[in-house]
Amino acid sequence: MTIFPRYTRIVFSVIIGFLLFLTENELVGQEAIKFNTIVIDAGHGGKDPGAIGKMSKEKDIVLDVALKLGAYINEYLPEVKVVYTRSKDVFVPLNKRAEIANKNKADLFVSIHANSISVPSIAGAETFVLGLHRTEENLEVAKKENSVIVLEEDYSTTYEGFDPNSPESYIIFELMQNVHLDQSIHVASLVQNQFHSRVGRNDRGVKQAGFLVLREAAMPSVLVELGFLSNNKEEKFIASEEGKTYMASALYRAIRDYKTEHDEKSKMQDLTQAKIKAKNEIYYRIQIASSKAQIKAGTKIYKKFEDLWEYKEGQYYKYTTRCVSDYNEIVEQLKAVKKEVHDAFVVAFHNDQKINVSDARKMTNDK
Ligand SMILES: [Zn+2]
Repeated sequence: MTIFPRYTRIVFSVIIGFLLFLTENELVGQEAIKFNTIVIDAGHGGKDPGAIGKMSKEKDIVLDVALKLGAYINEYLPEVKVVYTRSKDVFVPLNKRAEIANKNKADLFVSIHANSISVPSIAGAETFVLGLHRTEENLEVAKKENSVIVLEEDYSTTYEGFDPNSPESYIIFELMQNVHLDQSIHVASLVQNQFHSRVGRNDRGVKQAGFLVLREAAMPSVLVELGFLSNNKEEKFIASEEGKTYMASALYRAIRDYKTEHDEKSKMQDLTQAKIKAKNEIYYRIQIASSKAQIKAGTKIYKKFEDLWEYKEGQYYKYTTRCVSDYNEIVEQLKAVKKEVHDAFVVAFHNDQKINVSDARKMTNDK
């Protein structure tokens, strides 16, 4: 007695098989990537000076800090590509900045700014991630940084009617799903820790607000406010050579630590992926030895075949070398191995289980 006719059952199993196939391949396809590109965004520039202090302009301070940061990364993390949204005093529209980061497939986007406020006693550094402001104060910072778009031609079209001064325009940031939020918050807290513990800045914390420059960035991204140019003492510090160097090196250390963590995680993911891959695919190996007693690591055979792999069959420990998914390739490799071990032969595995070589070839459609 069957519920489904034979034809339907076949269709079912084909569909289920196909779904399983998809899942496995999707898992295998997601290879983790190392941190290899950073985009450093010096805010403002050209006709847009940003915040103005008694003795300095935001656009000049942030450009110097950006270039110093880039130089540190070039020197100490030479494998990381540094891309600047601007490396001189020019005006760059906000949407172009994120575009540069996306085009370069950056792993991190760091926008550098300095602040100004009507209360001169306020001082300290703060780092923002994209989101809806929780306080009016955060909204004010976003408004100020976003208002530079009015210097762009046709900004209303570019930003689809976004009005930097209208609180209603910011509601959209509540609806935005930022997949990189956790990582962005983490980078921001590493930055704040460095500013506080290594440079002794007043830590104003990690905050959220709707910054247009971060909105289009398709990677973890932060906006750093180095300090307040409206505070005399702070302006003197962050506008000085020493201050800029300290702030840049603090940013460098935060980014270095993030990269280390990021690459460590990628490595773990790669290992997991490799395990999944090996488990779900057919592999050919070359068997070179078989023994009732287990061969200890460090013995001659292990030195000769660095990739020696052991499996147990019945009472025997069996030892193989090489591991490839292509039958023709293993046959090629067998020729070389046979020069060392005359009676070496090919074995096949599926889900880490030994199977007949002929079955394996049928499963992989080898001719
Ligand atoms: Zn700014």
